Amino acid sequence: MSGIDNLPSLREVIDSHGIAAKKSLGQNFLLDLNLTAKIARLAGDLSECDVLEIGPGPGGLTRGLLAEGARKVLAIEKDSRCMPALAEIAEAYPGRLQVINGDALDVDPLEHLTPPIRIAANLPYNVGTELLVRWLTPKEWPPFWTSLTLMFQKEVAERIVAQPGSKAYGRLAILAQWRTDARIVLHLPPEAFNPPPKVHSAVVNLTALPEPRYPADPKKLEQVVARAFNQRRKMLRAALKGMAPDIEDRLIASGIKPTDRAETVGLEQFCALARNLSES
Ligand code: SAM
Repeated sequence: MSGIDNLPSLREVIDSHGIAAKKSLGQNFLLDLNLTAKIARLAGDLSECDVLEIGPGPGGLTRGLLAEGARKVLAIEKDSRCMPALAEIAEAYPGRLQVINGDALDVDPLEHLTPPIRIAANLPYNVGTELLVRWLTPKEWPPFWTSLTLMFQKEVAERIVAQPGSKAYGRLAILAQWRTDARIVLHLPPEAFNPPPKVHSAVVNLTALPEPRYPADPKKLEQVVARAFNQRRKMLRAALKGMAPDIEDRLIASGIKPTDRAETVGLEQFCALARNLSES
């Protein structure tokens, strides 16, 4: 029996249901229930919230989220081998766990959840960034979720919270920091997982701001940032040349030196440039 509920240990669950980790599904499981409960606590007060979890696997984090009081958990898992283990958890927490056996990229969680909604996941690395970008670029803001608490490989986590002037600073930092408060809240070594991955990991917490930090049209901002960082070694007047014939004047009007490179320019200035370019 485990420390946080009356269910078997995760090692026993994996052995009894034959869930040997598959590399193709990005499976690196967390087996320490104290750790999964800690990650669930980092997701904030769950008692009044529905929680979306992607990739529950054998259910370590799922159990943490339920034990920490989530009103309901919707867990989307691609691997059908995990279904019997997850059904046992659903039985132990009647009416609070819904499991969908499918690809997270194809499921609309809003069909199953009621706001306020938090998202928590030890994401499969192969789909993690794609899902994050989707959650950060919805049609309308505020989005359907209030916070994201997500495990990433450390290098991706550092790109999310990066500041201007650092090597990790780029499109992901701007996307995340424009409309959320983003912080790394936990570092984990490879040995925390089974099997251990080659890289270190980190949990990032992103809380949705009610409004963007600085006004800008989302499409224009994405366009500017994509172009600026696609050619990050170039001076901005060259990298953004195609965006307007008078790009140098527009850069200056936005407080940016035309000879600057993208990695030195802050979020506020990128938003000013996006606004300026929307005026044409
Ligand atoms: N949450 C579990 C834990 O912490 O031990 C498992 C984490 S493991 C890194 C990622 C999980 O995501 C695996 O169970 C894998 O089968 C699942 N997965 C991979 N791709 C998926 C997808 N496209 N949709 C849903 N689940 C997926």
